Amino acid sequence: MSYTESHAAAVLERCDELAAFSEEEGRLTRRFGTPALRQAGEAVRSWMESAGLSVGRDAIGNVIGRFGDRSRRTLLIGSHLDTVRDAGRYDGMLGVLVAIACMERLRAEARSLPYAVEVIAFADEEGVRFGTGYLGSSVVAGRFDPSALELRDSAGVTLADAVRAFGGDPDRLTDARRDPGDLIGYYEVHIEQGPVLEAGDAPLGVVGAISGQSRARVTFTGQAGHAGTVPMALRRDALSAAAHFVRAVEEVAHGQEGAVATVGELEVEPGASNVIPGRVALSLDVRHTADLVRRSLTERLHERAGAIAGTRGVALGWEVVQEVEAVRCSQELTELVSAAVAAAGHPVLRLASGAGHDAAMLSIIAPVAMLFVRCAGGISHNPAESVTVEDVAAAIEASSRFLKLLR
Ligand SMILES: [Zn+2]
Repeated sequence: MSYTESHAAAVLERCDELAAFSEEEGRLTRRFGTPALRQAGEAVRSWMESAGLSVGRDAIGNVIGRFGDRSRRTLLIGSHLDTVRDAGRYDGMLGVLVAIACMERLRAEARSLPYAVEVIAFADEEGVRFGTGYLGSSVVAGRFDPSALELRDSAGVTLADAVRAFGGDPDRLTDARRDPGDLIGYYEVHIEQGPVLEAGDAPLGVVGAISGQSRARVTFTGQAGHAGTVPMALRRDALSAAAHFVRAVEEVAHGQEGAVATVGELEVEPGASNVIPGRVALSLDVRHTADLVRRSLTERLHERAGAIAGTRGVALGWEVVQEVEAVRCSQELTELVSAAVAAAGHPVLRLASGAGHDAAMLSIIAPVAMLFVRCAGGISHNPAESVTVEDVAAAIEASSRFLKLLR
């Protein structure tokens, strides 16, 4: 096994160790503020310390290990330690552990860098417990919304109390923002969570942008009726209209380079085998790396829905649920990452991230770059998440080279 592969094997062992810190017996669930997350944070702290980092926790409970003196500008490298329910063991954790492995290597090689590094393990990205996605990075980026402190989890515990119980300070969350003037950038390694790298036969992918997202709740309201007595010509079937629309979503997204659009939920009322559907509510999710394209695509789908409803005599409801703008990664940092991937002997495959990441939040205060690692079948948010030691070695090698290239 090569020098880098032994580091990669150690990273995978640590991923296994962290997977044991769970709220649930027999499966990995680690939400914000729980003893399981505390234990994971303590393990990460000890690994950071043995890599020579000086470690602390901020007001929300992010674990931060620093290398280099205070006067220097800082590169943040990180990802998150919380998980979804019944999670895999690499989404988030891999990025933290690859970062620590890079620092161990630099130390072993007695490399000095002309800047400081902070490895940061965010306490909440998935937002499972309080519905607060990017909680950890929002504090660092100065975007924490204090009204969120009143949110309650399913057991009735407020976020404010959970932060306190976790050893944080809810009163300091709004002003814990890092000064953008102190930061060189933010770099994140993450599993791809999609099948593009596998299809392209590449272990690593350089992220050019994180897609924006439009979400809408669409309803078609027709007329419920008896499945046996209402003739076809006199029906106003809400589900038939919705079915047409679902086909249109697929067709329109197919026709737009780089776009993805999904109908993932469908509620049919009244929902009986002998009743014509009177009302259907469905979810629409549209993503693209260009905000203008995403908006015009969503607008086109809105028009199509209106036309389908009109010809069928059903009413259309269209409620915008969420608009998230796309994030461009820093061209300068991304070019260095690409050069590092090439120097490590791997093809440079550029791709967009369809999923959101802490990097999206950090882009508010710093230039960001991301490196994706191939994962088996593109599967994530699932215990079947899997990466190979060779691909993790490639990520450590490329990331270490990136750190040496950066000035
Ligand atoms: Zn993640």
